[in-house]
Amino acid sequence: MVAMTAVIAGAGVCGLATAHALAASGVSVDVFERGRALLREGSAVTLWGGGTGILESLGVPVTDLGVRLETMERWTPSGDKVLSIDLTRSEKRFGSPAISVTRAELIDALSAGLPVGTVHFGSACTDAADLGTRARLNLDDGSVHTGDFLIGADGVHSAVRAAIRGDTAREMGWTTWQGLTPVDCSVTNGTSGVMVVGPEGMCGMNPAGNGLLQWWFDVPGSSDDDGVETIHRAFGSWECDDVQKVLAAAHSSDMQPFVHLRHTVHKRWGRGRITLAGDAAHAWPPSLAQGANQALEDAWVLGRVVGRATTDLETIAALRDYEDERYRRAALVSALSGAEVTKKPAPGVFLKSLPDGLLSSQNAQLTKFVSNYLSSR
Ligand SMILES: Cc1cc2nc3c(=O)[nH]c(=O)nc-3n(C[C@H](O)[C@H](O)[C@H](O)COP(=O)(O)OP(=O)(O)OC[C@H]3O[C@@H](n4cnc5c(N)ncnc54)[C@H](O)[C@@H]3O)c2cc1C
Repeated sequence: MVAMTAVIAGAGVCGLATAHALAASGVSVDVFERGRALLREGSAVTLWGGGTGILESLGVPVTDLGVRLETMERWTPSGDKVLSIDLTRSEKRFGSPAISVTRAELIDALSAGLPVGTVHFGSACTDAADLGTRARLNLDDGSVHTGDFLIGADGVHSAVRAAIRGDTAREMGWTTWQGLTPVDCSVTNGTSGVMVVGPEGMCGMNPAGNGLLQWWFDVPGSSDDDGVETIHRAFGSWECDDVQKVLAAAHSSDMQPFVHLRHTVHKRWGRGRITLAGDAAHAWPPSLAQGANQALEDAWVLGRVVGRATTDLETIAALRDYEDERYRRAALVSALSGAEVTKKPAPGVFLKSLPDGLLSSQNAQLTKFVSNYLSSR
């Protein structure tokens, strides 16, 4: 069969990973990004063992990427540890680590392996359509690009989703105030991610490498609020030493708001020669740190199903197979990802009674799911 061509809207984590996955399956790919360059902004993201396993399988080495996380801990507002999840258990079993990596580092690593000229910058996608024999992408510079199929990986406010489905993400009434700065506290140079949870909300901390701490506060409210005032009002009375150090180091110039949004995860993400991937298909609040991980799973599955197709019709059918394969998992993660963990914090006494081994083994199960994907290739 003649090599298939694909156009991808958006060069974020999902668009770049999808370009890798499709190119590995013999598809000729063009990615259209509205930014004038790759958007390296943002704080850090957590990649669980499944996410790093997918990166490796796409040919993106993870050995020197970010900071390897050995445990994920939960503390009370007074700084008592109530549970600890051993992340090395799944690493030993499946061979891929959990890491905390700055978004800039991850975007650089994903773009490094793509042929020069794969990504086209500076024009935003405004419309997309299935023309029957081709898929069409319109850009705001007036240009029109076609391919055998089209992937909308243009993030939570996806123009491709608007063109083919018309629905938008709902605001959940919570905002994450986040930063990536040098903070002299116990988490910065360690190998543990920490979530401190109380009735007022949550403070998360991850080591991010090079003396930087990724920190964030989840609170009810909007991005129009004054971030510094909001976090001091909500968390100022917490006794946890590290939280107080982060509060003291948090300046408005270092803080970005991240509004919690949720899409309805539909059974059908696209139609005809068009589908969606990553946040365009399934945005949710960041509480389980699954945004980048699920975007990588989408990319990997797309590459695999399209790689099996040998005719044009089979390629279109492969897009539906991809949606079938991804729907259940994405819907489950969406249902589990909420601010609920902070709305009704479980009593410490209950959490303390949960054996760490049980939670660590549940974490390993999640990685096993992806490992099964990878080994079924
Ligand atoms: C600037 C930025 C900072 C972020 N910071 C964090 C963070 O600190 N922590 C965290 O956990 N997650 C962060 N995220 C979200 C995280 O990257 C995603 O949830 C996850 O990686 C899924 O990625 P995605 O590629 O589906 O979406 P995104 O990462 O949102 O990427 C979408 C890409 O599409 C481009 N795009 C959007 N609209 C159009 C259009 N109409 N035409 C063409 N291109 C378009 C965007 O510029 C972007 O490059 C950030 C995302 C962005 C864009």
